[in-house]
Amino acid sequence: NNTQVFAIFGDPVEHSKSPQMHNSAFEYLNIDAVYKKHHLKDGKKLKEEFLNNLYNGANITVPHKEQAFKQADEVIGIANKIQAVNTYIKKDDKVIAYNTDAAGFLKAIESFGEIKKVLILGAGGTSKAIALALQEEGKEVVVVNRSESKLNFFKENNIKCYSWKNFRLDYFDLVVNSTSAGLKDDKLPMNKSQLENIFLNSSYAFDCIYGKETPFLALAKKEGLETKDGEDMLLYQGVLAFEYFTNTKIDSKTIEIMRKALKEEN
Ligand code: NDP
Repeated sequence: NNTQVFAIFGDPVEHSKSPQMHNSAFEYLNIDAVYKKHHLKDGKKLKEEFLNNLYNGANITVPHKEQAFKQADEVIGIANKIQAVNTYIKKDDKVIAYNTDAAGFLKAIESFGEIKKVLILGAGGTSKAIALALQEEGKEVVVVNRSESKLNFFKENNIKCYSWKNFRLDYFDLVVNSTSAGLKDDKLPMNKSQLENIFLNSSYAFDCIYGKETPFLALAKKEGLETKDGEDMLLYQGVLAFEYFTNTKIDSKTIEIMRKALKEEN
């Protein structure tokens, strides 16, 4: 049997849209491959499970991206700085790892106009990937987080960062919500009046959360900013992973097939 097998590792993983996205593209391109959900509780077993299941490639999601980085045989590109990966490929019995969240984010914000200076709200795993991706593109990046404790990573990478209480207002072209505020609640990622003041001097707002209009995006829209949710970021991290899986460049028609699959209920 020559069917290639791919999977997404996560805990939880049931809600993942990645299988439908990748399977739709395999089907459309007539590639003999299947992409499964793989529920993994113990991140330390990630590489072992990946190899034992004879997967050709995989995606890795919450909470295993840092473990995935540690266990890879070879890490390519910006992922070395982020210290977290979301994509595994098997090549000559070695596990090669990439971070496609970073490039997926950059692709997602291409639809905005020119951006020089970016404010990122939040300092978790997603923030790290986005901040380094923007820094590598030569953008000016500032991170602001509720608590102080997650800021060390940014300091070490020469990215300006503040906790809420030290933050000073400035001009930003783009404001990104990389916090989980608004995901399962109706909270803003920062104090409302402070956000309103930030938005006064900004043109674009991006939320990594997808599938709903968060309070953050609603407020940005009300203040006249051009807004975008995290759907394209999710799509493009998948597109880039798919290109590594298949060692091909995929065309815009296939990307639209993947986008459509992403919107379907699972
Ligand atoms: P982490 O758990 O690593 O980080 C969460 C961050 O959110 C922390 O900085 C935390 O601050 C902050 N935070 C949480 N609640 C609040 C709140 N009520 N007010 C202010 N700040 C808050 O999460 P991830 O980086 O993994 O994910 C962040 C978001 O990005 C999630 O909503 C996730 O769904 C989304 N995402 C989207 C992707 C896409 O493809 N579109 C890909 C990956 C993630 P503190 O340090 O103070 O606790």
